Amino acid sequence: MLYSNSTQQRLPVLITAKNICKNYGSGSNLVCALEQLDFEIAAGEKVAIVGQSGSGKTTLLNILSGLDKPTDGELLIDGKDLGKLSSSEMADYRLETVGVIFQSFQLIPQRTAAQNVEMPLIIAGKSVRDRKVQVAEALAQVGLNDRAGHYPYQLSGGEQQRVAIARATINNPKVLLADEPTGNLDSKTSKLIMDLISRVAQERSLTFLLITHDLELAASNSKNQFVMNDGRLSPIELSRTMGLSS
Ligand code: ADP
Ligand code: MG
Repeated sequence: MLYSNSTQQRLPVLITAKNICKNYGSGSNLVCALEQLDFEIAAGEKVAIVGQSGSGKTTLLNILSGLDKPTDGELLIDGKDLGKLSSSEMADYRLETVGVIFQSFQLIPQRTAAQNVEMPLIIAGKSVRDRKVQVAEALAQVGLNDRAGHYPYQLSGGEQQRVAIARATINNPKVLLADEPTGNLDSKTSKLIMDLISRVAQERSLTFLLITHDLELAASNSKNQFVMNDGRLSPIELSRTMGLSS
């Protein structure tokens, strides 16, 4: 995430947020979930946003993934002004530009691992033959070739998240968003899954935004870290805060 006073080497900017605000409700029920966020994320950058529960992390992720719209402000992603997209353009954006990994995996229970991974390719209109090849490759990338025919209830939490990672990346999006991706996993599995997400993001040259309440997870899986506090975003230096070397 580059700010105007950044001394980092400048890469092409992929995401620009200008004065983003998000309110829920009105009157005495008004919640200002995001307040005047201004940031840029460069192509290929790995960023983490940490923050306590209720600070606005998921609200921001929903806006970046096109699931929700800001109340105010402008969001440019890969040259698209999200506020100006029609609903079909927004559907294309969600299909082609962004992949999302959720805490609760969000797999379709009635579909096998392979069918869940295949879903975005069907929506994108890919041929049966292409789908078969790409699904096999994606399942191999997450180490799940031998579970292709399993349904979600037959898979462990870690395996379900592997399926979700394959599904989120199969259309080769530019941006990968992960919202507390290890929140439902034990600590050993969490490390394996986080390593896998980082590796897939690296291998596919994705711009990666990790959302978490866990400072240590943020420090070890991103280059730049930001804190969300009551809907406001500010840079943090985790290496200093946590006494880490990098
Ligand atoms: P986080 O992901 O950091 O836990 P959220 O983005 O989910 O935080 O929520 C930020 C704030 O916005 C919270 O105060 C929450 O209660 C409120 N909020 C989130 N979604 C809604 C909604 N659909 N309607 C009303 N308030 C909401
Ligand atoms: Mg959340």
